[in-house]
Amino acid sequence: MSWKFAYDSPTAITKLLEVHGLSMSKKFGQNFLLSRQVREHIVDEMKIDDSMKVWEIGPGIGSLTAHLLEAGCMVTAFEIDHGFCRILSDEAFGDDENFRLIEGDALKTWEKLFKVEGTPDRICGNLPYNVGSVCIAKLIEGKCLPQKMVYTLQKEVADRLCAQPGDKEWSSFTLLAQMDYVVKSAFSINSGAFYPVPNVTSSVITMDKREKPLVDPSLRDLFLMVIRDLFAQRRKTVKNNLLSGKTGAIIGKLGVDDVLESSGVLPGKRAEQLDWAQFIAISEAISNYRAKNLSDN
Ligand code: SAM
Repeated sequence: MSWKFAYDSPTAITKLLEVHGLSMSKKFGQNFLLSRQVREHIVDEMKIDDSMKVWEIGPGIGSLTAHLLEAGCMVTAFEIDHGFCRILSDEAFGDDENFRLIEGDALKTWEKLFKVEGTPDRICGNLPYNVGSVCIAKLIEGKCLPQKMVYTLQKEVADRLCAQPGDKEWSSFTLLAQMDYVVKSAFSINSGAFYPVPNVTSSVITMDKREKPLVDPSLRDLFLMVIRDLFAQRRKTVKNNLLSGKTGAIIGKLGVDDVLESSGVLPGKRAEQLDWAQFIAISEAISNYRAKNLSDN
């Protein structure tokens, strides 16, 4: 790779963008990671080698991409900004046979590639708030489950991913992520490490795939429906959320009463007060109730 660029220099970045007639867009959450030390730390956390296929979501002008290519990985970069795409492919990495660019909204483009090529070894990205949470949720719901994912995220998203029962950030997003992954906050990044300086704090989180998911594969789809229903309105009770969600439409009021009784969860509890065992118990009870009613009819 012959491209050498001073990614730690705001002056060099501004000049590069000027030459290409580009500017940074708030809409796409564009804040470049200047600090080489931080970028190296992220790559260390990824535990990569030159046999690996890596997806990078939102490469920008390639500050992390350059490290991944230096390590010899096959990098597929998903970038929405056409101007940055021109820099990446025409100037920076276009002649590197280990680099491939998928232009467009990663939230829409990843699935097509996944269907053709399957799961990569690693996924990483420094992602804006809205894209970060939706992207992680879509990948897991779509069963694109690499051995390891490493993301730089706004602290609020990271806190929801790493939350434990009883935390105020404990949510259906937490359960979705932790079902297949051990999620850890690796380190925080000061806003001064970015250009332009954002008004949020960022954290790097690592997601390591569990050997065995916390939810049995036969229960997975039902479990996802149940947690979505249970957290639909945080202030509502477990019973009312089940009744007004898809679960209620499937098993009805009698079914909901039966399910809560057999799972041992008090109807007046709220989802944020439940732990893993209770979410699984509710899902199992629904599955049993459905099986029993189907065989009775
Ligand atoms: N990776 C670079 C870095 O760390 O310096 C840039 C990170 S910047 C915070 C986020 C990048 O994600 C931008 O390049 C932005 O254009 C891109 N982006 C935002 N939304 C996107 C989406 N839906 N699909 C693909 N890229 C997106």
